[in-house]
Amino acid sequence: MCVIEPRDYTPCISRGSITCSGVLMERLRKNWYHFPFTLEITLVFYSNKNMFDTLSSMRWQDLADIFIVAFITYQIILLIRGTRAMQMAAGIGVLIIVYFGARELEFMTLYWLLGTVLSSIFIIIIIIFQRDIRRALTQMGQASSFGRNQADDLLAIDEVIKASIALSTKRIGALIILERDTGLKEYIASGLLIDAQVSSELLISLFQAKSPLHDGGVVISDGRLQSAGCVLPLTKNPYISKRLGTRHRAAIGLSEETDAVIIVVSEETKEISIVQHGAITTDLDEKALRNRLDAIFAPKEQHIHLWRNWLNKS
Ligand code: ATP
Ligand code: MG
Repeated sequence: MCVIEPRDYTPCISRGSITCSGVLMERLRKNWYHFPFTLEITLVFYSNKNMFDTLSSMRWQDLADIFIVAFITYQIILLIRGTRAMQMAAGIGVLIIVYFGARELEFMTLYWLLGTVLSSIFIIIIIIFQRDIRRALTQMGQASSFGRNQADDLLAIDEVIKASIALSTKRIGALIILERDTGLKEYIASGLLIDAQVSSELLISLFQAKSPLHDGGVVISDGRLQSAGCVLPLTKNPYISKRLGTRHRAAIGLSEETDAVIIVVSEETKEISIVQHGAITTDLDEKALRNRLDAIFAPKEQHIHLWRNWLNKS
């Protein structure tokens, strides 16, 4: 396997591997840094001892095949990025490197041992990554729930912002979950079904300490308040700040398993936080919260506008 030199500014084809380096690659690295990397990995897998022979005998099907595998690898990296699965994937990567190293150096016992482990790697991956695989499969083919009726969604977001500010001012803890593409039926079912129009008054009253439903989270989907008192999975990420308690950990846990956006109001600090894809942004004021939610739930035309602006700038 050749050492890939990203510093090389000419396309490099050498023993057993190819990389599309150069200005294009540097640019891709900055913006889509995973994609060229996965493409390189795929090409390494496709390589054999004589790369020139392979290249000259390549059919269009092989190229399409390489791009499909690279795309799938890229999507898998995107899915597991920032989750525990990513660390485990890195661990498996190290095992694979050691396995090939042991073969080259003829450490036969180590080679045999790792070979035995790696021969069951697909079953191991399925067991370890079962949550991520389930998440990926549920995301496939699901229509976006926010966005089916944009008027309802925008109204719901306004009410959520109003309620969050009021709850923070009154130092009342809250957990508000906004469903996106991943269905949250499992979590909705863990609470009490409400199915009501979203209003700040309803949200504020649900989170009052005397309300029987104040514990747990409220799930909003299709522009409606579906359920309250919902129990969410706690994150197991060991790097989460110790100062964050179970309310915040539950929000982060759900965001690791789904693409939901979760708003947390702290009863201890009055801080409003937004949680998405396993990351938490704390201490948001009304303007910052609105900006974040607008950026996430902006209508599609607005997204296109943002892309155009970005393309014009770069
Ligand atoms: P705060 O800053 O508001 O104190 P915190 O992050 O420190 O929040 P805790 O003080 O532990 O968290 O908050 C406890 C509350 O968090 C519970 O009363 C409950 O409403 C909510 N909560 C705890 N665990 C879960 C869970 N798994 N799912 C949903 N809500 C939960
Ligand atoms: Mg607390």
